[in-house]
Amino acid sequence: MLPVVSPNPPQSPAPDERPDLRTLSLSALQALVALLGEKPFRAKQLFRWLHHKGAASFDEMTDLARPFREQLARETQLTRLTADAVQVSTDGTRKYRFRTWDNRFIESVYMPDEVGEPAFDPDADDEDPVEEPLARSSGKPARVRRTLCVSTQVGCAMGCRFCMTGTMGLVRNLTAGEIVDQVYRVNADLRGINKGEMDAQRPLTNLVYMGMGEPLHNYANVKRSLDLLLHQDGANFSHRHVTVSTSGLVPNILRLGEETQVKLAVSLNATTDEQRAKLMPVDKKWNIAALLEACRQFPMKNGRRITFEYVMLRGVNDTDEDAERLSTLLAGMPVKVNLIPYNENPGLGFGDPGVERVQAFRRHLERRGFAAMVRKNRGRDIAAACGQLAVAGQERPRAR
Ligand code: SF4
Repeated sequence: MLPVVSPNPPQSPAPDERPDLRTLSLSALQALVALLGEKPFRAKQLFRWLHHKGAASFDEMTDLARPFREQLARETQLTRLTADAVQVSTDGTRKYRFRTWDNRFIESVYMPDEVGEPAFDPDADDEDPVEEPLARSSGKPARVRRTLCVSTQVGCAMGCRFCMTGTMGLVRNLTAGEIVDQVYRVNADLRGINKGEMDAQRPLTNLVYMGMGEPLHNYANVKRSLDLLLHQDGANFSHRHVTVSTSGLVPNILRLGEETQVKLAVSLNATTDEQRAKLMPVDKKWNIAALLEACRQFPMKNGRRITFEYVMLRGVNDTDEDAERLSTLLAGMPVKVNLIPYNENPGLGFGDPGVERVQAFRRHLERRGFAAMVRKNRGRDIAAACGQLAVAGQERPRAR
């Protein structure tokens, strides 16, 4: 089956025609504020409430005059995700299921890391952590990385055989407001449970676009969400701390490289087209050669480099021959390889290769000169796989 990669995937049907403030750029907010007859500086005030403080309602915007807030409530709308379930792991991972306005479910996963631990962030640089300011009383500031994995679609069209989200098919795209609101709702939750122990405004330090959905299949909304999250008057994330992952939508890889400075992770998972097409139908449209050529053209300024993700599946892609072919494919490219031991999913028929096989594969790549790391499996006690919680909240997975 070829993935249904429509150029115009289903958009979010907004509750009504009023503009959603959470999705608007600062310049669009300025135009809106002028239209409503307010002073220009109100636009930046509003933008900061929406994206710096992550306000969940107009009532929180206390330095805006009440008549203006009432006018906004009448003439605009505000994306609001509702946390429907939260699972907490013994390793500190928190898995959120959010309900959208039209009763769809998406999932975001929060992963705290002490620096020095292998982080979930595939491009994490140990020299680039965030100091934990309120831990200084001990004399030694904690150096931490707090990463959120965000979703970009409800379901996914790509149909990767090893993925629970892929069993759903694509239900709809998330709006930019729904993508950024995952960050703001989790920030609010973390502020609530860690009073006085982390940056009051922005507990999260890193973002990875690796949750439900193929980010580059929802390019316009993903690009808008990046603009909002990286804006200095908004959440002000550094592009060095944001990674977008793709299963290999070649045209949008190049576009992302030209239009943003965020990092790229490519989910490769196989070393021949025969093998990859069985696991990832996208390979039938853009094969490994086309994918690697797009990666070679991806702008690598300012130390940017690509991370290749390789989900290791027992007896499928985990042999020394696979490791050798992988090193041949990636030869000469400034890349990192992230090995991901498979998190087993009931009913999908794939297995975890085990620690010894994974380490042998890693050593093989290192002997060939590659930086290869094994991703720590986070939150194994709260769910076996990304997407499982949200899949369980909505349609039954389609039969394959
Ligand atoms: S692995 Fe990613 S791209 Fe593939 S089906 Fe799952 S969510 Fe979609």
